[in-house]
Amino acid sequence: MLTVNAYAAPSATEPLVKTTIERRDLGPSDVLIEIAYAGICHSDIHTVRGEWGPIAYPQVVGHEIVGVVTEVGSAVTLHAVGDRVGVGCMVNSCRECENCLAGAEQYCLNGNTGTYASVDRDGTITQGGYSTHVVVVEDFVLKVPESIPYEAAAPLLCAGITTYSPLAHWNAGPGKKVAVVGMGGLGHMAVKIAHAMGAEVTVLSQSLSKQEDGLRLGADHYFATSDPETFTTLANSFDLIINSVSAPIDINAYLRLLRLDGTLVSVGAPPEALPVQVFTLFGNRRSFAGSGIGSIRETQEMLDFCAEHGIAPEIELIDAASVNEAYERVLRSDVRYRFVIDAATI
Ligand code: NAP
Ligand code: ZN
Ligand code: ZN
Repeated sequence: MLTVNAYAAPSATEPLVKTTIERRDLGPSDVLIEIAYAGICHSDIHTVRGEWGPIAYPQVVGHEIVGVVTEVGSAVTLHAVGDRVGVGCMVNSCRECENCLAGAEQYCLNGNTGTYASVDRDGTITQGGYSTHVVVVEDFVLKVPESIPYEAAAPLLCAGITTYSPLAHWNAGPGKKVAVVGMGGLGHMAVKIAHAMGAEVTVLSQSLSKQEDGLRLGADHYFATSDPETFTTLANSFDLIINSVSAPIDINAYLRLLRLDGTLVSVGAPPEALPVQVFTLFGNRRSFAGSGIGSIRETQEMLDFCAEHGIAPEIELIDAASVNEAYERVLRSDVRYRFVIDAATI
């Protein structure tokens, strides 16, 4: 066992505190990663505060991890000591169900092993990336291209893949009108990626306060959802809407913005239900869908796509001691556009 520093939530209601945790001894297929940077995803906050259901404490979260391989197990072939690598939202899956065999292990029918708050194969609860080191089985470790700025790469491992996957699946590209609801961590990556794919991109944000940024990141249009006119102006407009909002919204109002055969995909995961009126779906033969992260193969494809198109997240680098303050800013939608913890300060 390796004892390492980490920031953990002691309970659903207390701030995160510095502590130590144990990482398992390297198995034959494991790699040991010295973490350099860890992104803060809104899912970390939903999880530690028990908003998605009860969890065991203390819990270390963080599933946007980049670092360097410092040791490899005897059977490892995919990675070598010194490689720049990443770990996202899952660290294993059953490898034998229909979905795993189809290369969609994020939808493992036996439940993928989440990077944190999940039961690992040895029965322990997985502990995430707000830590100095992590041990992960080699085929759930991604290669992070050197051309992506090191500090900014971490958020690609969740915010990047979670938006790339539905944009690719629903064919965002030239001639397609794509709207992104909410411009936070996921939303700002959706804007960049959809723009790079060649789609016409519209941001639907609560206010116009981030309009300049949105247009700089690649949006063609920017509207405030606090203005009821927005919903009249944009009715029947979009082929694809990516909802990245962490709180409940009036989903029917957004569905009415879809044109014929359009799809609204929610990647945002509020604990509350988003009730859909079926008559809203009848109009324009609309679809309402969800999407969860992406497969390992697709995550590597996304990293290579971002390297090729020169795309990287916009980040605010923080010391680990500022994590609780960062959480409060995320909750106020005051994030530009992803907090990344410098693991050297953990
Ligand atoms: P985030 O950085 O906090 O961004 C969420 C954005 O939603 C905010 O920046 C804000 O954008 C908007 N928003 C927040 N509260 C709102 C409200 N009450 N009404 C309307 N808009 C509001 O969060 P994130 O890290 O991007 O995560 C977003 C959601 O995706 C979370 O629920 C997270 O758990 C989920 N998630 C899902 C997956 C998946 O696999 N499906 C993966 C990762 C995260 P504006 O200020 O521009 O309005
Ligand atoms: Zn996440
Ligand atoms: Zn499976």
